[in-house]
Parts: sequence; structure tokens; C-alpha cells
Amino acid sequence: MTRILVSEVGPRDGLQSVDQVMPTEAKKRWIAAEAAAGVTEIEVGSFVPAKLLPQLADTAEIVAFAKTIPGLTVVALVPNARGAEGAAAAGADSISIPFSMSETHSIRNVRKDHPAMLAEIRACADIAKASGMHFAVGLSTAFGCTIEGHVSEDQVVRLAAAALAAGAQEFSLSDTTGYADPAQVRRLTRKVRAEVGDDKLTTLHLHNTRGLGLANVVAGLEEGITTFDASLCGLGGCPFAPGASGNIVTEDLVLMLEAMGCDTGIDLDKLLKVREILAEALPGEPLYGFTADAGPPINLRERNAA
Ligand code: ZN
Repeated sequence: MTRILVSEVGPRDGLQSVDQVMPTEAKKRWIAAEAAAGVTEIEVGSFVPAKLLPQLADTAEIVAFAKTIPGLTVVALVPNARGAEGAAAAGADSISIPFSMSETHSIRNVRKDHPAMLAEIRACADIAKASGMHFAVGLSTAFGCTIEGHVSEDQVVRLAAAALAAGAQEFSLSDTTGYADPAQVRRLTRKVRAEVGDDKLTTLHLHNTRGLGLANVVAGLEEGITTFDASLCGLGGCPFAPGASGNIVTEDLVLMLEAMGCDTGIDLDKLLKVREILAEALPGEPLYGFTADAGPPINLRERNAA
């Protein structure tokens, strides 16, 4: 049975685009409940200045709380070296820095061109090494950019190589904009792996903006990808696509992987119950997911019981 790691990113990526601030206590209950359902890795927040993102202002406290849960890998997003220092001080197990493959997107979002980002990556790598944190680089907008449109695959490969030289331990290919299709996932996974090594590209970060999220997961599985980011309830949505979830929905991903015979180690029924915490803490927020409404198929229950 293939072991697949489902990495929950809802407390960071999902909440980042939710306006109403989720109470810290509710975040803690959410993280604890997912861990109890068998989720072993959670990106719990982001070390960005609180005034820029009030929703994630409690990240240090959330990291400290998550660290008390046995067996949980606690991941934090960091935009730069200062964020990496915050993550190290809070005790995160792992940090991830987004590196936008579209230079226009990078300049627009974090006011840094590619050379400036590579300098941040180098600094983050040093901080991670000194404090024993795992260090991943998320190759964001790898499948296309809302500003530049097409992002050249050769550019993604070249920048991945540069980030590797700057100290990245691992990569994820991130479909930040929901542009990816399964053929592109296969092609780009192969190209980047050929450059950085199969063991260094293990993760896909997919959004379901256009409904292709799970199809893209299957393409990644067929290429040997073993980690998929997802968000409970597909939290975060897309303001331009009503009805479209943000990240791929954790519950639907777990259902599909288990139905395909992969081992996620996650109890789907317990996971579905965690939705109640979000429903209560974020009233009126759209919560996505097909499995929650239709329920897991009866044949999957029978197989698991056998
Ligand atoms: Zn994302």
C-alpha cells in the first residue's frame, strides 16, 4: 500500500483569505482535532507582520501549542529571513518559503525580484540549519500567473536549480492560481525532478479554482509524488469563482486516496467531524467538499472494516 502524506494547510493558506479572524482557541481545537483524526503534518500559520495579516497574528502561539501534540510535524510559512527567525524562536519543525516563479508576481506581492528572493532563501537556509528546522521552498505560480499568464517551464527548472544551490532541502510545486492541468503536472514534475532529484520534489500544492484539483493529484501520484497539501473544507475559496474551493479539500482528497488503495493514516469519519469546528468558529463562511454532503461511499466503509 502506498503511503501518502496529506499535509493540512488550512490554518495558513485557507485562513489567509478569510476576512473574519478565527479565534486562537478555535484554531487550537481545529489543529488538535485533525491530529486526532490521524493528520501528521499541519502548516499552522505564517510569520508575517501582524498588521499585514491580522488573521495569522497568533502564529507563534499556535506553533507552540501544536508542538505539544505528539507526532505532529509543525510547519510554518515564512516570507523572508525575519520570518524564519520568528519560526525558529517559536520552535517550528519545518519552514516553507514561497518563491514565485513569475517575477512580476514576486515583485507585486513581496517587493522582491528573483535575485533578492534567492538571497532570502540563502538566509532562511542558514537559519533553518542553525536551528534544526527542515527547509522547503514552494515554487509558487509554477503553473501560470494571474499577472504574467504563461510561466515558462524552463524558467521554473532554472529557478529550482538556483534555489537548490541556495540551500533548499526540498521543493513543492505550487499551483497558486489554479491554472494547472494534469498533463502539465506530469511534465513539470518530471522536468523539475530531472534537475533537482526525485527525492527533493515530493510535494504538490494544488488549488481547485477550476475544478481540476483532484485530477492533478492523480497525475502527481502517477509521477511518484508522495505529499499533497490540502485544506479542510477547501477553506479560502476564490473570490472570482463562486462555488470553487480554495485549496483542494482535505476530506475529498483523503476519500479519493483511500478509495484508490493508498494509505493516508487518516480516519475519514473523524476528519469530517472536524468541519463542525470551522462551521462554528467562522459563521457564514462557505465550506466546501463533496464527501461531507454525500458521505463516504459504503464500499469504502466495508473495505476498511474488513
Ligand atoms: Zn496556496
